[in-house]
Amino acid sequence: MSGIIRFAPSPTGYLHEGHLLSALYVWAAAKKWDLKVHLRIEDHDQSRARPAYIAGIREDLAWLGFRYDSESIQSARNSIYEAALHKLEAKSLVYPCYCSRKQLQEENPKSETGEIVYQGKCFYRREMWFDKRSLWFDRLTNLMPKCTNLDKRPEMREKNKDTACAEHCRSKPAEVNQMEPHNLRFIVPNRFIDWHDLRLGDFHENPKLQCGDFPIRDRENQWTYQFAVCVDDIDENITHIVRGEDIRNSTARQIALMQALGRTKLPIYLHHPLIFDTNNKKLSKRELAHSLRQDKEAGITPEMLFGRVLHKALHTEKNAPISLNDAIYITMQSLP
Ligand SMILES: [Zn+2]
Repeated sequence: MSGIIRFAPSPTGYLHEGHLLSALYVWAAAKKWDLKVHLRIEDHDQSRARPAYIAGIREDLAWLGFRYDSESIQSARNSIYEAALHKLEAKSLVYPCYCSRKQLQEENPKSETGEIVYQGKCFYRREMWFDKRSLWFDRLTNLMPKCTNLDKRPEMREKNKDTACAEHCRSKPAEVNQMEPHNLRFIVPNRFIDWHDLRLGDFHENPKLQCGDFPIRDRENQWTYQFAVCVDDIDENITHIVRGEDIRNSTARQIALMQALGRTKLPIYLHHPLIFDTNNKKLSKRELAHSLRQDKEAGITPEMLFGRVLHKALHTEKNAPISLNDAIYITMQSLP
């Protein structure tokens, strides 16, 4: 087998034990299946990404001894995301959503995993997205119901299209983007998606029932995780995706989005178990905030960290220092 696998941390903090376990799985898979490793720095959320954390990812990987073949950073790829958005627009697969967080909570049911399942309240604006004037008019009607120049009757709206509100509100259709924060949702096909996980087996899931149409660009005009990751996985020719079980729920919706963007051959998936603490609970925020570089500063070596993480995650017998090569070899044994 050959191909490319990615290690894709977000620079919203320093690397912690969870990242280290993920890295061991990624590099073990690369070794076992003869793959190149691509480092992708997922800084799509510019409000939380920090330059110090970006530098920290590279420094920590070098300190631990993980070498990769190529690297990309999402904040440098805006034009690629724009082009992907145009692809979806050309297929009429996006629409603006003006629902507030409160509205989303109150107006939509939740899935069994507690996720909001968006019911498509703003779907009717799908056509308007291509006709900014009608979108502008639609918003104006909602925003300024008291404006005397506006008439709620559709035929009057049509008649007043060019003149209504011009003197009152002086908004131009081109300004619709600035009028109010909105996200842009991807229209999820209402069908079941069959996909396979090398460790967990077969899945048969309908993202329409899991989350509904989901945002590809958020209210702050930032690309969402789901969108950026799909565009990157296509553009960077990623053939294998090995990541934590906590993201497993995203897989069906990512497949739907990748297919809409034109990808036909799907990546091979493996979702690895997460690290649990001694009480068999997921690591707490505090434990996750404890960074590898804090350990480094306290005099702990990479070998001690490998031993500790594998003891916690794979229940190796002893919590004793081991080399990176041995740690990768042990992790390989838990791959199919
Ligand atoms: Zn909405």
